[in-house]
Amino acid sequence: MKITAAVVDHQGADFELRDDVELCPMGPDDLQIHMVATGICHSDEALRVGDATIDYPIVLGHEGSGIVEKVGPEVTQFQPGDHVVLSFYACGQCANCLRGVPTQCLNYAHNNLSGVRPDGSSHFTLDGHHVADMFDQSSFTTTTVVRERNAVKVPRELDLRMLGPLGCGYVTGSGTVLNTLQPHPGDTIAVFGTGAVGLAAMMAGRISGCTKVIAVDIVDSRLALAKELGATDTINSRNTDAVQAFAI
Ligand SMILES: [Zn+2]
Ligand SMILES: [Zn+2]
Repeated sequence: MKITAAVVDHQGADFELRDDVELCPMGPDDLQIHMVATGICHSDEALRVGDATIDYPIVLGHEGSGIVEKVGPEVTQFQPGDHVVLSFYACGQCANCLRGVPTQCLNYAHNNLSGVRPDGSSHFTLDGHHVADMFDQSSFTTTTVVRERNAVKVPRELDLRMLGPLGCGYVTGSGTVLNTLQPHPGDTIAVFGTGAVGLAAMMAGRISGCTKVIAVDIVDSRLALAKELGATDTINSRNTDAVQAFAI
């Protein structure tokens, strides 16, 4: 089927909206998703400008939220109409997935950064030519297909327009604090940069019981939001030396 997608034609090119992108047929464990919204993550921009090796042209986007339109015959957990947030693919079968650390899936690169579907076929084509995908998702689209394991069902009463960054930015920030830093009640945590990743890290520090949660940014409006979401202290490091401020 033809869809509209934001295509990056070559390294450094601007996003170009094309309405003649051909979406691949669904596989047996695929969901067809009507995209409602997507976050944009620094990784999208890094791949657009060529900070990592990737094929072009490409359809980026890996923080999608949407509604399931169709399900493949082997799908067990989803039905048409389900609201979902899309994330990276973890195989569920390697040693790291089986010990409960899907973020370190040993098959991560093959499944998320190869630019093709798991069987090596094209997720998208333009004029019959291959267009690479991202995370086997490519949320900068009106419709995409993803495997069942890329999707997480969310309650229908939540506003899908707000949920996309849960698929990357929020799990990155909160996972770093909850799984790796593991602060204890009474600890102090400082978070540099209060975008989606930083705000999630900050909120994870808060629910871990950190007494002092210091948000550092150079944009006052972001610091105001950080305060609203639980920062006990904020520092605008454009005006104040953050390290010196910590010492006081
Ligand atoms: Zn990301
Ligand atoms: Zn795995």
